[in-house]
Amino acid sequence: MTDRYAVFGQPIGHSKSPRIHQFFAGQTGQQLSYTAEEVAPEQFVGSVKAFFAQGGLGLNCTVPLKELAFAFADTKTIRAQRAKAVNTLKLEADGSVLGDNTDGCGLVTDLLDNHAFNLKGSRILLLGAGGASRGIIAPLLGYSPQTVVIANRTVEKAVELAAEFQDIGVISGCGYADLGGQAFDIILNATSASLSGELPPLPQGVLATQGVCYDLAYGDQPTAFVRWGRENGAFYSLDGLGMLVEQAAAAFYLWRGVRPSTHALIELLNAERGMS
Ligand code: NDP
Repeated sequence: MTDRYAVFGQPIGHSKSPRIHQFFAGQTGQQLSYTAEEVAPEQFVGSVKAFFAQGGLGLNCTVPLKELAFAFADTKTIRAQRAKAVNTLKLEADGSVLGDNTDGCGLVTDLLDNHAFNLKGSRILLLGAGGASRGIIAPLLGYSPQTVVIANRTVEKAVELAAEFQDIGVISGCGYADLGGQAFDIILNATSASLSGELPPLPQGVLATQGVCYDLAYGDQPTAFVRWGRENGAFYSLDGLGMLVEQAAAAFYLWRGVRPSTHALIELLNAERGMS
C-alpha cells in the first residue's frame, strides 16, 4: 500500500502542499501519496484519528487547526512546545503521534540560505501576534538579533506573546501607533491582512535604509505588503513562497528521513507565477 500523507485545513482548496510533496517524492525516489482535505475544527479529532487508523503516516495542519494539532499530539518537539502550535504530525512506530512545528525553521532557512539575510544584530519588526508569529519567534531569536518588536492590532496579544519569549532574547510588544520614530532592518508581516489585500497601519520611516520586507503570505501577484516594501525603498521585498517550500521540506525530512532539495522547486513555482 502506498504511504499516505495529507494536509488538513479550512479553507484548503488552493493549497500548494500536495504539489510540493509530490515534487519532493519524485526528486528523492519516495513512493507516497499526499492529498489536501477540508477539515473544520469540530471535525479535527475524528478526522485525524480516522486518517491514522486507515494507514496514514503523517499530516500537515494549517489554519485554523495548529492549536488543535498541538493539543492532539502525544509528544511534541521542543520547537513545537515553544510555539504552542503544531503544523506537522507524524505517526511513530509505537502508535503514538509526534507533533512538530516546521514554520520557524522554514522561515529562517528561506531568509538565511535562500536570501542571505543577516539576522545577527538586526532590528526586527514582527507584524501580527497570531499562530504564525508564535511559531517563528524562537527561531528568530536563536540568531541573536539586536531586538524583536511585535506590533499587533490587538495590543495585549503582542505584549503577552513577547512576554513568553523574554527568557531567550530582547523582545517587546506594542501597537502600531507606538512604532513612530523607530526604524527596523527587517520587517516581517505575519498578519493575515494580505489575504484580504489590506495593510497593517505602518508609520512613515519604520523601514530603515537598506531594510528588507518579508510577507509570510504569498500569492500569484505581489501582496499588498510586498508592494508597500517596494514603494518604501526596501532592499528586498519578498513573499512567503520560499518559507512554504522550506517548512514542507522540513516536514518531509521528519516523515521520510530524507532531505529534499528546494531550490529547483522554488524556481519552478516562481517561474509559473511570473516572478523570479
Ligand atoms: P492568525 O489568524 O493566527 O493571526 C492573524 C494575525 O493577523 C493577528 O495578529 C491579527 O491581529 C492580524 N490581522 C488580521 N487582519 C489584520 C488587519 N487587517 N490589519 C492588521 N492586522 C491584522 O493567522 P496566522 O498567524 O496563522 O497566519 C498569518 C499569516 O501567515 C497568513 O497570511 C498565513 O497565510 C501566513 N503563513 C504563511 C506560512 C508560509 O509557509 N508561508 C506559514 C504560516 C502562516 P489581531 O490579533 O488583532 O486579530
